[in-house]
Amino acid sequence: MNSKKQDAFQRLAAALKVLPNVGPKSAQRMAYHLLQHKRKEAEELVDALQAALRQVHHCSMCNTFCEGGLCDICADETRDGRRLMVVHMPADVSNMEAANCHDGLYFVLMGQINTALGMDVSAIALDRLAQRLGGGEVEEIIIATAFTAEGNATAFVLSEFFKNLPYKVSRLSQGIPLGGELEYVDAGTLAQAVYERRLIKEGGA
Ligand SMILES: [Zn+2]
Repeated sequence: MNSKKQDAFQRLAAALKVLPNVGPKSAQRMAYHLLQHKRKEAEELVDALQAALRQVHHCSMCNTFCEGGLCDICADETRDGRRLMVVHMPADVSNMEAANCHDGLYFVLMGQINTALGMDVSAIALDRLAQRLGGGEVEEIIIATAFTAEGNATAFVLSEFFKNLPYKVSRLSQGIPLGGELEYVDAGTLAQAVYERRLIKEGGA
């Protein structure tokens, strides 16, 4: 390899390290694999990535990923805007929808508080949540974070955030196994955790 090709290869391997759980060795293996066996698919990957970067943005109401200003759920006028379920990630919305147990709206924090790094609230979109609530018809907040250290820390920060606000606040019941990420919980258990949600505080200031 001449030095220019070497540079392009190293640049690719370095770029692939941006993916979660990919260290230098895996990144090198991926780069070899793409260049040796999957050149056509690699071009599709580039196209798909560019299109997604151009077209996918945050929903102006719930903060999930969507194309256009509002996601399908926020744009659906048959949903009950009085109940707002707060979740970590867009995948949690899909799981809740699949469990068919929540006809209200969502807010997606796009992260959770990493307790190993302290209680850094900048990991969750609290500012956007505050904006979302301003002037809305929301009456109840359902905290649907996981029962992991991060999920519990996030739930704690959220309940503090809502402490002096006039909303009824509840959290999913502990039917979900301890340490359980919501994405590994089956639909029936998820639905039960929503129906049996635990009241944190009543509505009213
Ligand atoms: Zn939305």
